[in-house]
Amino acid sequence: MSKSPTLVWFRRDLRLGDNAALTAAVERGGPVIPVFIRDALVDQLGAAPKWRLGLGVEHLAKTLEAKGSRLILRSGPAREVLEELVRETGAGAVYWSRAYDPDSVDRDRRVKEAIKDLDVDAASHTGHIMFEPWTVETKQGAFYKVYTPFWKSVKDRDVPAPLPAPHELMAPSSWPESEKITDWGLAAAMRRGADVVYPYLHVGEEKAMNRMSVFVRDKIDDYAQARDRVAVDGTSGLSENLAVGEISPAQCWHAGRRAMEAGKAGAETFLKELVWREFAYHLMWHTPRLLTDNWREDWDAFPWNEDERLSEVKAWKQGRTGIRFVDAGMREMYVTGRMHNRVRMIVASYLTKHLMCHWKIGQKWFDDCLIDWDPASNAMGWQWSAGSGPDATPYFRVFNPVTQREKFDPDRSYIDRWIAEDRRNPSATALSYFDAIPESWPLSPDDAYPDPIVDVKEGRQRALEAYQNRDF
Ligand code: FAD
Repeated sequence: MSKSPTLVWFRRDLRLGDNAALTAAVERGGPVIPVFIRDALVDQLGAAPKWRLGLGVEHLAKTLEAKGSRLILRSGPAREVLEELVRETGAGAVYWSRAYDPDSVDRDRRVKEAIKDLDVDAASHTGHIMFEPWTVETKQGAFYKVYTPFWKSVKDRDVPAPLPAPHELMAPSSWPESEKITDWGLAAAMRRGADVVYPYLHVGEEKAMNRMSVFVRDKIDDYAQARDRVAVDGTSGLSENLAVGEISPAQCWHAGRRAMEAGKAGAETFLKELVWREFAYHLMWHTPRLLTDNWREDWDAFPWNEDERLSEVKAWKQGRTGIRFVDAGMREMYVTGRMHNRVRMIVASYLTKHLMCHWKIGQKWFDDCLIDWDPASNAMGWQWSAGSGPDATPYFRVFNPVTQREKFDPDRSYIDRWIAEDRRNPSATALSYFDAIPESWPLSPDDAYPDPIVDVKEGRQRALEAYQNRDF
């Protein structure tokens, strides 16, 4: 008797290589039916990450077609969709790659129970991170709250070698119906921005692997220094692909290890950055409130501004604070869907300290604008910058955006790339910001560049006073 099909439920693992769920399906034997489900967790994504996910799904569908397979698209609650597909196809197993944010964990638990109730094998596989959060413990059996000991405890672990992409995916005798991705409107909220951001994207597994090869060949040696020079393309750019799983962290880790063994100077720093991502997942899994609340509860008593309608918040979002380094970063994000890591820290410090706004306002804006949006890294980055997170930069360490610019953009090339106002010949990138923004924002490159909405020294002083007068 021929073996029943396996449903492989793709989520944030849009790749064929190093995909344990897919490999397990092939090894089980029988037809493989790849599925992507547009459920409530997809619908609630911000504008840029939803669009980017859709592009990744479209690309994966083409890759599967080139292998004689297909990606079946369905909408609805994941449990119902999968139960329905099991009935339609006679599938004997449903496999997927594990997710760690609380909403996905909750959904996946219910899916697993429901599928098992149908007497069908249901199994989740590792792949979105390297070190399962429950396998990394302090000597006291607790989870890690500080990065450096976390790094030390995982850095010498064996990370299994990446799995090859399957040569062949057996097709079922008949394919179930699929919806069309073009009917899903995943790009709807991007409006004008999509055309401007699109050229900056690297969609798909091949581009991700290529990006990694170029990084390891040309950039990793100098990475430890170059990663802080904001106008230099000195980092991997892989966060975009890691976010939707077009490359696995293990593939990046092994490339980094090989570079280290080959004596490339910056390789260990790269591995450490990959472990920052792991640390974010570790924290989110053990303390899901990382995503929603001050990780240090004391900070609930801090007098944050929580009103998003404040004119200062609007100026921050629109890159019109009058502080060029901050504004350049906000515009870089609007045009490219990404922002240099150093500048992310500066704009976050500025919002939470100089403007004393709650980090959640910034987190929400990044949720909407980043094509490399990652729930764990974004929340950790914001709480780290604000001082409310574990192992965070202390609140009294207020980044000075002026001296930071002098240090990390000494010749102002980053500023020139992104700020058009008051320039006789603004750069094309700076002008493209005005093509990306909503028409309702009354901004023009011919406007005068604004005066600072908050004096840098006064803002710092105000933040420090609030911190000193806090009652916790
Ligand atoms: P590289 O320097 O090449 O690093 C390699 C990989 O290591 C990255 O792709 C990323 O996966 C990981 N990494 C590097 N730095 C960090 C870090 N500080 N925290 C966690 N992982 C890291 N990263 C996201 O992927 N998504 C986000 O939504 C996100 N939001 C952030 C918000 C704030 C306020 C801050 C301060 C940081 C945020 N980061 C986020 C982390 C970091 O800025 C990006 O991962 C980095 O800029 C990505 O560029 P890259 O791929 O060239 O990184």
